[in-house]
Amino acid sequence: MQNENLKPARKKIPRNKIAEQQPASRIKNFSEVELGFTTEQALLESERCLMCKKPKCTDGCPVEIDIKGFIELIKEKRFSEALEKIREKNTMPGICGRVCPQEDQCEKTCILGIKNEPVAIGKLERFLADYGIKNSKNNSQGDTGLKNNNSKKIKAAVIGAGPAGLTCAGELAKMGYAVTLFEALHKEGGVLVYGIPEFRLPKSIVEGEVEYVKSLGVEIKLNSIVGKTYTIDEILESGYSSIFIATGAGLPYFLGIPGENLNGVYSANEYLTRVNLMKGYLFPAWDTPVKKASIVSVIGGGNVALDSARTAKRLGAEKVYLIYRRSEVEMPGRIEEIKHAREEGIEMVFLTNPVEIKGENGWIKKITCIRMELGEPDESGRRRPVKIPGSEYDIDTGIAVIAIGQGANPVLTQTSPDIGLNKWGNIIADDIGKTNKKGVFAGGDIVTGAATVILAMGAGKVAARAMDNYMKTGVW
Ligand SMILES: Cc1cc2nc3c(=O)[nH]c(=O)nc-3n(C[C@H](O)[C@H](O)[C@H](O)COP(=O)(O)OP(=O)(O)OC[C@H]3O[C@@H](n4cnc5c(N)ncnc54)[C@H](O)[C@@H]3O)c2cc1C
Ligand code: SF4
Repeated sequence: MQNENLKPARKKIPRNKIAEQQPASRIKNFSEVELGFTTEQALLESERCLMCKKPKCTDGCPVEIDIKGFIELIKEKRFSEALEKIREKNTMPGICGRVCPQEDQCEKTCILGIKNEPVAIGKLERFLADYGIKNSKNNSQGDTGLKNNNSKKIKAAVIGAGPAGLTCAGELAKMGYAVTLFEALHKEGGVLVYGIPEFRLPKSIVEGEVEYVKSLGVEIKLNSIVGKTYTIDEILESGYSSIFIATGAGLPYFLGIPGENLNGVYSANEYLTRVNLMKGYLFPAWDTPVKKASIVSVIGGGNVALDSARTAKRLGAEKVYLIYRRSEVEMPGRIEEIKHAREEGIEMVFLTNPVEIKGENGWIKKITCIRMELGEPDESGRRRPVKIPGSEYDIDTGIAVIAIGQGANPVLTQTSPDIGLNKWGNIIADDIGKTNKKGVFAGGDIVTGAATVILAMGAGKVAARAMDNYMKTGVW
């Protein structure tokens, strides 16, 4: 590909389309849907960048990646250096390149996007991360030489090995602290391993990022539920100078309607955990049963609902309904995921809300729904769904998956009543992660409520700097 010849016409180069598995074949497997840019595509896409004097793309990135800088290095085919440029700000490009909502962040503010389609920044980030994995000797995911560095004296603890905790632990280790990361589950990654399915985020990518954090010298204690195995005070008393709490939002919300306790009604959390973390999609080779049905109804309109619906399709459901109480415009799920779900035959049932789940012999059979219309905007700014009286009707279904949101996990906070919480049970922390308890910081979904991977990572990074300052100066 001769890029020089294309420069004068760069605005006319159409945005490169990423190769994907075709819908008819991909609904029969759990392999990744998107296949990534080829080198030629990445080079061509990099040519689309205007190399703006005052780029706006970085303003849209929560961790302030030098986007223009890494795209310039791609143009020069200096891929390892381009990856390093991203890693200066983001230690998990393989994950963010796949799951970040770029359309609401860097690509939304990209100047090319004013009159044209924005540069495919996320796909370029993913290209570099995949390049790094294929050529691992050439990038910082290799041996950092820091492992088991016994000269570290000051101990710091991190609770929860999701994106917030992993980022914070990695940053603290780089600064020279002896970091212990306590994780409740038997595997690291948080939502990245138990929630987001393999077909969107292969677990080998998450494992690679976890290995990088371990290579920095972080000690990870799995199967350690803080609040049960140890309390925050016990950790502080055992020589840790500071703690970062990143326990996420893992408590599923339910509809609170009759019939929700029938067999065959799952929270999305349980459904996805069985399939992803416990490898239920490989049953019986892996012995985690997941009920299958020819008709599945998923309630909700966000990424969690879309992941559940697309998972049900791959487990063999003929019909999968996605029942959402507002309209498509208000759906919080990523545009790309909505498109992929449609292509896979997920039937979107908008302006509809369940009012009762009906069953026979203890098992779900139908969901009674009521039709809704949109009223005035609510506190979220979206138009409020209002019931249309007398519009109830039944949807036959073999399984229902409730994906209407998650709240703060209370296990840790219940045993540390001196840590301040808001009315939803989220830890109250300031913008550098400081809680009301001396030495204790918090960030990610446990503070913000269910949000995004990049915001969780950003919170981990900011808190690591603040913890460093506290541990050096003792000033709270
Ligand atoms: C199905 C699904 C799909 C999503 N899709 C996207 C997407 O496409 N893009 C996007 O940006 N975001 C997405 N999100 C949101 C995103 O994954 C979260 O915002 C992000 O993972 C939050 O990171 P975190 O580190 O704060 O918490 P988590 O990822 O929840 O990690 C918290 C960790 O803490 C551990 N833990 C909890 N309690 C304890 C305890 N007491 N002791 C020790 N460990 C504990 C948990 O086991 C877990 O490993 C999705 C979420 C879900 C559920
Ligand atoms: S704003 Fe868009 S076009 Fe401008 S430097 Fe950033 S990515 Fe390139």
